[in-house]
Amino acid sequence: MVNLKQFGWRLFQIRVPEDWEMTAEGGGRGRTYIRLEDEQMVRLEVRWDDISPKKEPNVKKSLDSFLNELKERVEKANLKFTRLGLREIEVAGHEGYLYHVRGGGELLGASWYCNDSRRLFVVQVHFRTEEYERMREIFQSLLESVVCHGRKWWTWSVYAFRFELPEEYELYNYRLLSMYGRLSFRSKRDVWYVFAYQGMANVILEERYNGDLKKWFKDAYLKEALKQYSYYKLAEEHRLSLKGHEGRRLIFKPRLSFLKKIVLDSFLWLCDVSNRILVMSVVAPEKVHSVISSEKERVLESFTCH
Ligand SMILES: [Zn+2]
Ligand SMILES: [Zn+2]
Repeated sequence: MVNLKQFGWRLFQIRVPEDWEMTAEGGGRGRTYIRLEDEQMVRLEVRWDDISPKKEPNVKKSLDSFLNELKERVEKANLKFTRLGLREIEVAGHEGYLYHVRGGGELLGASWYCNDSRRLFVVQVHFRTEEYERMREIFQSLLESVVCHGRKWWTWSVYAFRFELPEEYELYNYRLLSMYGRLSFRSKRDVWYVFAYQGMANVILEERYNGDLKKWFKDAYLKEALKQYSYYKLAEEHRLSLKGHEGRRLIFKPRLSFLKKIVLDSFLWLCDVSNRILVMSVVAPEKVHSVISSEKERVLESFTCH
């Protein structure tokens, strides 16, 4: 059996093989789409539609029309489309359907409606016919691991960096490149969490920042991720151990005291196992920082680097 890892994105969690990584995500108009690939091919597609409170969707009917669209696309490419199976299943406590089709490659998929989060899901894995036995097992454990509702804290994961956040935080924007990545979240109370990684850390630190983490933080990270605070002054600096690595806590405050006191509290460290710099910043009015201090600790605790 392959090793599985936790994957989470936009209040949806599953366990997937370790070498599957998210390569696309998007959406709009109440639809979200996520794609994961391994080194060979697309492996997993997850799609959900937000359902308005007045409607109760017919899972079977929408799955039928989804499979009919798929059939049309396959046949347009001059390939034969075959439905190999469809049966009822249960996913995360919801009734749903499991399907198996062939057309070019093969697909095993499932569709269900989560009435708690009001989302209609379609999740499918891609494989070659000779991989069927292995993939059936993987898909089975993947479905058993689905979490689509009922959490206060949710996992977010990208390129082997992972953390948990309370449900109220929404992904505001992000930048994901292989060498640098950053995710920014905002709550309705206007508290911000920013997570970032910098790859090839040893080379980049030596060549551009004199081996100085703080210099990288100010000149690279702050300017990209939190530009509006790049004129803040460093008010406190602490050395501490983070995830077994030597790290820093840097607290930045505005230069002028009559400004609304927004405080920028950051934790950063160099992970020599993954050769990356990791950062977590919390931006909030000064008095809010003490209110969320245990939350902040838990988020930092959940943030893993290797
Ligand atoms: Zn659910
Ligand atoms: Zn590490």
